[in-house]
Amino acid sequence: MAILIDGKETAKAVREKIHSEVEAFAAETGKRPGLAVVIVGEDPASQVYVRNKHKACAEVGMYSEVHELPADTDEETLLSLIARLNADEKINGILVQLPLPKHLDEKKVILAIDPKKDVDAFHPVNVGKIMIGDFTFAPCTPAGVMELLHHYGIDVCGKHCVIIGRSNIVGKPQAMLMLKENATVTVCHSRTVGLADIVRGADIVVAAVGRPKFVTAEMVKDGAVVVDVGINRTAEGKLCGDVDFDAVEPKASYITPVPGGVGPMTITMLLKNTLAAAREQLKK
Ligand code: NAD
Repeated sequence: MAILIDGKETAKAVREKIHSEVEAFAAETGKRPGLAVVIVGEDPASQVYVRNKHKACAEVGMYSEVHELPADTDEETLLSLIARLNADEKINGILVQLPLPKHLDEKKVILAIDPKKDVDAFHPVNVGKIMIGDFTFAPCTPAGVMELLHHYGIDVCGKHCVIIGRSNIVGKPQAMLMLKENATVTVCHSRTVGLADIVRGADIVVAAVGRPKFVTAEMVKDGAVVVDVGINRTAEGKLCGDVDFDAVEPKASYITPVPGGVGPMTITMLLKNTLAAAREQLKK
C-alpha cells in the first residue's frame, strides 16, 4: 500500500510558514506583499479560481486586489491596466487569469507583465531563467509538485523521473525543476512511441495529460512514486486525475490523490512566489 501524499495538509503547513514570513516582512518593511489578479470575462471556473486566490492572500496577511473586466474588453484597455499595475508599488505580483477571450492575444499580454511581477512565471524572461536554473520563482503547479516531494522527503537526485505531458505550464517547467535537482528526466507526450515501457522504467511518474485513468497499473513499476497533476471530470461529474488510482495505489510507494493532492499546492505556490517577488523588489 502506498503512502498518500496529502496536498491539503502540506498546503496548510506551507501557508502557515508563509503567513509568519509575511508578518515578519510587514514588521520589517511596513509593507505587505501585494497581488493583483486580472480576470477578463465571466468564465465560472476562472471566477472560482480568482476568488480562491483573493481569499488565500487574505489568509496569509497579503494585500490583494481583483480586477474584473468585461468579456469584450479590448487589448488596449487590458494592456494599460497591466502597465498601471507594473508601476504600482503596492503590487508585487500580477496574475492574468487564463484562458483569455479569443480576441485577446495571450502572448502579448504575458509579455506586457513586468517579469519581476510575473508570479505565474510565464514571461519568456522567467521561462529562460528556469531553463538556466537561476530563478526567483517557478510556475505554480510544477513548483507545487516539488514542494510536495520535499515535504515527504522524496529526493529526486539520480532518480529517473518520467513526466507525461509537455505543456508550457506543467510538463516543460516540471522537467527543468527536476533536472535542477539532479534527476534524470524523460518527457513523454502525445507522439511518444512506447510510452508504457518508458513509464515502467520510472522511479517517479508525473502525469499531466488531462485524460482520466491514463496511467494504469501495468505502466507503473513496483515502488514508484506517482504524482497526478490531472484534473478531469467523469461522466457523473466527479473529479478525477490522470492516474487509475485504485489500481496503481497498491503498487506505488507514494501517490497523490485527486482531489487533495497537487491541486491545493498551486495557489500556495502563488503566495510563495508573491512573497519572493516582494522581497526581490525591495532589494532593488
Ligand atoms: P495540456 O492539454 O496543455 O497538455 C497535455 C499534454 O499531454 C500535452 O503535452 C500532450 O502532448 C500530452 N498528451 C495528450 N495526450 C497524450 C497521450 N495520449 N499520450 C501522451 N501524452 C499525451 O494540459 P496541461 O495544461 O499541461 O494540464 C494537464 C492536466 O493537468 C489537465 O488535466 C489540467 O486540468 C491539469 N492541471 C492541473 C493543475 C493543478 O493545479 N492541479 C494545474 C494545471 C493543469
